[in-house]
Amino acid sequence: MKGRHAVVTGGGTGIGAAIASGLDANGVRVTLMGRRKSVIERLAGQLPRADFETCDVTDPKAVATAFGRATERLGPVDILINNAGVAPSSPFHKITHEDWRYCMGVNLDGVFNCSQQVIEGMMARGWGRIITIASTASLKGYAYVSSYCAAKHAVLGLTRALALEMAGKGVTVNAICPGYTDTEMVRDAAARIAATSGRSEQQVLTSFTRFNPQGRLIQPDEVAATLLWLCGEQAASITGQALSVSGGEVM
Ligand code: NDP
Repeated sequence: MKGRHAVVTGGGTGIGAAIASGLDANGVRVTLMGRRKSVIERLAGQLPRADFETCDVTDPKAVATAFGRATERLGPVDILINNAGVAPSSPFHKITHEDWRYCMGVNLDGVFNCSQQVIEGMMARGWGRIITIASTASLKGYAYVSSYCAAKHAVLGLTRALALEMAGKGVTVNAICPGYTDTEMVRDAAARIAATSGRSEQQVLTSFTRFNPQGRLIQPDEVAATLLWLCGEQAASITGQALSVSGGEVM
């Protein structure tokens, strides 16, 4: 991996930050992308090989500009980590068209937009890794997050199809499917549910752990460790897969 260039979308926080730190520690030059400059700039400042580009992954023009600049600064992108995501929750009948498009825009269109920026270069160079941080919600349904489940199922379909197109071209395409992971996303969800349910945030967080047979939240570093393995040469035959990092949650 040493010397390669990775782009990590949503790389300034949570799982993305753990991934960026892990890649950087392995000698990879990392470009962090996200909408909040202050967040990605701060982490990039702490990692010796990292740079950053602000970018909204739902905007194809902004994505093209950000990848163009990242390539100029750190070279062609060898590793793409599609990690940016949002997890809105609501009963299905209250989801507006706008809510639906927002969820699809970030979790699905964002993966399409970013993957399109790197795929031709990877094919031309005969090496690449595209890894999407999907979810156990790519593999099963959960109540009150139907748009999220739909988008995350869709990115897994995209992963499987693209993996077949890339087979024999030196490019692997995989998804990692974490269960509930200890990040801002889950803490925000717990706060939202606590505000409307009368339960405490801690009670809500504990309720999330019931999905995991190990009875705990996944740690971002555990997701990063799986991803680092997928980036290496020894994982060249692993493609089109959905790796569940969930303590054995039954799908
Ligand atoms: P965070 O909220 O910490 O990270 C989400 C990141 O995505 C943020 O850095 C955010 O940065 C970025 N982002 C959101 N929207 C956009 C956008 N339109 N363009 C660019 N970047 C964007 O949560 P997690 O670390 O938990 O989530 C990371 C991924 O892991 C997501 O895809 C999520 O669905 C997935 N996941 C999370 C699980 C969990 O339980 N936490 C479980 C399974 C999967 P900014 O706002 O600055 O743009």
